[in-house]
Amino acid sequence: MARSSMNISDCISKIYQEIPSNIRLIAVTKQVDAARIRETYRKAGLKDFGENKLQEALPKKELLSDLDDLCWHFIGHLQANKAKKVLEEFQWIHSVDNLSLLQRLERLAHQMNIQRSICLQVKALPDPDKFGWTIEQLWQDIAEIEKCQTLQIKGLMTILPLGLSKEEKIAAFSSIRNLAQTLSQSSSLSLDQLSMGMSGDYLEAVSSGATMIRLGEALFGNRN
Ligand SMILES: *Cc1c(COP(=O)(O)O)cnc(C)c1O
Repeated sequence: MARSSMNISDCISKIYQEIPSNIRLIAVTKQVDAARIRETYRKAGLKDFGENKLQEALPKKELLSDLDDLCWHFIGHLQANKAKKVLEEFQWIHSVDNLSLLQRLERLAHQMNIQRSICLQVKALPDPDKFGWTIEQLWQDIAEIEKCQTLQIKGLMTILPLGLSKEEKIAAFSSIRNLAQTLSQSSSLSLDQLSMGMSGDYLEAVSSGATMIRLGEALFGNRN
């Protein structure tokens, strides 16, 4: 049966038959309207929602502002001039993809006196079309990253390039898990969270140690 004709609770139960219950499922709601987000919350009990564009997220968040136990995750490329607003609106930012952005967020979070959870976005494989640290750059920047006092740097996030085999996906996700472990052992950071896995690769991500998966089409059907 096509996902779009399945109701959202059945869809989520089906996914939880495939993955451990302690995996945090983030419903990616780009192009999904506020009414459908509300239904996902009411019928399926999901509380974690991810958006990749601030301008799209704001009116939906406004319409859902009566639901005070939602947790909003920013997962898209973040431009420096939107950093303050994203800090105000989102509890998690998964897509911090360079040092100067991280330092700006740190300064702002300190000034605003707020705590936010952060993932560092890393490229598991070379990919000119994606944002994120390369593994080498991340090692170079780690001493500066460790200086963040206000932001809570919780883990790594990755997006794999398209077209990989199952084995290649597992190898790429596992390299990010190993990177998080090695960095945690050799710095003051505790990178316990791994935000990896989307509709096309979440099973490989979970088998490679993902703690958070970000699902859009697997829950809501195909986007345009
Ligand atoms: C769109 C998006 C997702 C969800 O993708 P699906 O293939 O629809 O599951 C996950 N992460 C990021 C960063 C995205 O932009």
